[in-house]
Amino acid sequence: MADYDLAIIGGGLNGVSIARDAAGRGLRVILLEQGDLAAGASSASPRLIHGDLASLERRHFLRVRTALAERDIWLRIAPHLVRPMRFAIPAHSDERPDWQLRSWLLLYDRLASRSGLPASATVDVTHHPIGNALKRPFGTAFEYSDCVVDDSRLVVLTAVDAAARGAVIRTGARCTRAERGKEWRLVTIDRGFRQAITARAIVNASGAWTSSVAEMVLRVPPPKVAAEQMDQIVVRRLFDSDNIYVFQNSDGRLIFASPYERDFTLIGTASHAFKGDPAIVAMAAGDVAYLCDAANRYFRERIETVDVVRTLSGANVVRNAASGRDGAMTLDHGRGKAPLLTVFGGDVTTSRLRAEQAVTKLTPFYPMSPRWTATAPLPGGDFAWDRFDNEVEEVRERWRFLGEEEARRLVGAYGTNAKEILGDAKERGDLGPAFGPELTGAEVRYLMQQEWARFPDDVLWRRSKLGLTMPPADREALAAFMAAAM
Ligand SMILES: Cc1cc2nc3c(=O)[nH]c(=O)nc-3n(C[C@H](O)[C@H](O)[C@H](O)COP(=O)(O)OP(=O)(O)OC[C@H]3O[C@@H](n4cnc5c(N)ncnc54)[C@H](O)[C@@H]3O)c2cc1C
Repeated sequence: MADYDLAIIGGGLNGVSIARDAAGRGLRVILLEQGDLAAGASSASPRLIHGDLASLERRHFLRVRTALAERDIWLRIAPHLVRPMRFAIPAHSDERPDWQLRSWLLLYDRLASRSGLPASATVDVTHHPIGNALKRPFGTAFEYSDCVVDDSRLVVLTAVDAAARGAVIRTGARCTRAERGKEWRLVTIDRGFRQAITARAIVNASGAWTSSVAEMVLRVPPPKVAAEQMDQIVVRRLFDSDNIYVFQNSDGRLIFASPYERDFTLIGTASHAFKGDPAIVAMAAGDVAYLCDAANRYFRERIETVDVVRTLSGANVVRNAASGRDGAMTLDHGRGKAPLLTVFGGDVTTSRLRAEQAVTKLTPFYPMSPRWTATAPLPGGDFAWDRFDNEVEEVRERWRFLGEEEARRLVGAYGTNAKEILGDAKERGDLGPAFGPELTGAEVRYLMQQEWARFPDDVLWRRSKLGLTMPPADREALAAFMAAAM
């Protein structure tokens, strides 16, 4: 008998979502990730959980409705990671006409009619906080509801749930070869050690590496794909309102600017073609300048490229131009040939559904229980999304030494599992050494024991974004602390 029913190559959102779904349906699953979870495109997404207005404009109504239904599911199963936000589109006379935007948003409301989120509205920005940060006197803006998610934590908590349901999650484990027969024989370099395992089927969920994994590792004809890159910049906070701004730039591209980790603003735009090594996706200087210029067209506060504190870039593949970021998949099998399922990119919003569809494709090969992920909360997500503030209050009442923002961050990252980190602490010192203004030894230990963190970047950029505020000396202390705790 093979060691596993399913071996998944890639620990991005697609890989972990498939691992969770399959493990919950009773399959014996192993997931192999060559670096850290979410080290690829899944920590550089625009973080939107949305129906996608651009799809609405292209009249892909079914796609929008499906994504909006998924948005509701995310609010129910991940109320800590997914937050409703009001998006604001300042009206601009030389771009899409007001009547057109208004009617698209009314339709958007209708397609999301059961979400419980506030409907779209027209706002007079001269008397509204939305207008305060804007450079020129916009008369009106259109507001609508959508959600944002902490993308890399979504990956990690999905993996935690997969593991709780029996999946084996191996980070630092690169799949280097797989021989195909009635089952697959895989070779991995797992933290420096060569390992061999067998599996009844393989999922190639390696994102931007999809073609090279097909060709070099699985030795099957590489699929025809287009690689795309997305870029975002992080600057100091440019506005106080809790909105996400969506601007129509002069070249027709949509630019968004969103509050990011309390003191920062994230600015990004649509993707462009990518060529090169997916392991080193970097943002071109011209693209940094482009986003700064776009922001300067709208915000009062000017930014230059030297103000950029971090760039976020990711690459992934799309099956063909027509499918867009829909997340296509192919299943290859035949007599005497163990199945190979390949999943291509796809957006964050529909990742749960995509995983469900992917695992369902494998039903002819295994007995498995029915689909289940639409109603099962992710770890720490066992509360209603509109009770997030109550959860924060409860944490502050019990651990009185925590400030409001600190409690908010902990509940946003861990939900009801924040209590496992805080334990019986009566004061901050009980949580161990401090690294930077917020990170404690107790949290780092938890991340190492429960969430596969091994190195400072795993903690500072993927399980949190505390790297933004961590002084270099504290980072070194963190590295020493983690090395000693290994
Ligand atoms: C251009 C672009 C724009 C996007 N825009 C949006 C958007 O607007 N909204 C939205 O919601 N989503 C968007 N996305 C989608 C989103 O960012 C990701 O595509 C999504 O998170 C799924 O990622 P993944 O799991 O396919 O890939 P990744 O997160 O890249 O994961 C693949 C993993 O495979 C691992 N791997 C590779 N080879 C091996 C090997 N041999 N052995 C072991 N591990 C290996 C890599 O290390 C990597 O971690 C966009 C994607 C792209 C490409």
